Amino acid sequence: MSKNSNISADELLEKIFYYMNQLVVEKDFHKSVLLLADLGKVLVNAERTSFWCIDDKKKQYWTVAAIGEEKICVPQGTGIVGAAIEGNETIVIDKPYEDNRFNKDVDKKTGYITRSILCMPVMNEKGQVIGAYQAINKMDAEGFDEKDSSRLTLAAAFCGKLLEAQILREQNVVDQLTGLKNRKAFYSNYDTDIIPALADKKCSIIMCDIDFFKKVNDTYGHNVGDAVLMNVADLFTKLLDGRGVMYRWGGEEFVILLVDKNKEEARVIAEELRCAIEQAECYCENHLVKVTMSFGINEIDGNLQSNENIKVADDNLYTAKKEGRNRVIG
Ligand code: GH3
Ligand code: MG
Ligand code: MG
Repeated sequence: MSKNSNISADELLEKIFYYMNQLVVEKDFHKSVLLLADLGKVLVNAERTSFWCIDDKKKQYWTVAAIGEEKICVPQGTGIVGAAIEGNETIVIDKPYEDNRFNKDVDKKTGYITRSILCMPVMNEKGQVIGAYQAINKMDAEGFDEKDSSRLTLAAAFCGKLLEAQILREQNVVDQLTGLKNRKAFYSNYDTDIIPALADKKCSIIMCDIDFFKKVNDTYGHNVGDAVLMNVADLFTKLLDGRGVMYRWGGEEFVILLVDKNKEEARVIAEELRCAIEQAECYCENHLVKVTMSFGINEIDGNLQSNENIKVADDNLYTAKKEGRNRVIG
């Protein structure tokens, strides 16, 4: 194993500037995190470093391994990362195999030997823990010390800023109530996914709206109305199973973008969704609520703007409402 204890202050500074200069121009979140992982290795002379993010929905921590590779995920609350995040404390360990917080299974599987660990929580602007930065195996000493902890803060804090910006970027295109993508995301995805696909594929739009939704709110209250919206989002997302992307257009109105689906195929999918919601039951606050929905579809015309294509689907939805609701038009 190569030791690297004799790095001079000048050399270290050079390396810090090297990584910082790359970070200034790097726009991709994952690549930036990988650069900061490398910087962390240099700062504390560790064999490995990793930055862990929290996925509260999936109850997991995840880390980026290398460019092009899938995320690595572990269950929330487990291992040294879990202890650092949940306890909001920096953890320094010299004998990990004697520490019951350490998950030995990974090493058992891979044959890797962990000798020392330094793991620190990473916070957002409000002081809430949003991740953890971990360094493994100090190369030139038995274990990490306070100086390492102080040095690693440079990379960890930078990771925190990056992650916070990334979380805000993601929240900006997601509807808070349903977790669906919002209208902003629709326009962005239309440009990046639909327009290029139109060169050699048919693409379609489904626009749908809950029938007499105001009555649900008026009868059972706003909370029940919210539960119905969430139910529609979950049910349709599950049924679509990757065949299309669903957006909350606004209120009780949703748009589904279908790549490589012509009008006939879009109609079949819309009809499937219409039947499913007609039969679905939503329980909330001891009420059983059933709703129907109306659908307008449109095969996208590449010569028209996104809004013009949306308008055709919307006009069809309007016709569906006028003709008695709970139907697919287009
Ligand atoms: P139609 O069949 O013609 O679509 O009738 P509708 O009652 O569904 O349509 P209308 O536009 O009259 O009412 C829509 C209602 O949706 C009114 C509004 O309060 C409610 N709504 C919009 N957004 C939300 C939301 O986020 N939560 C809840 N609970 N209600 C919402
Ligand atoms: Mg409605
Ligand atoms: Mg509406």
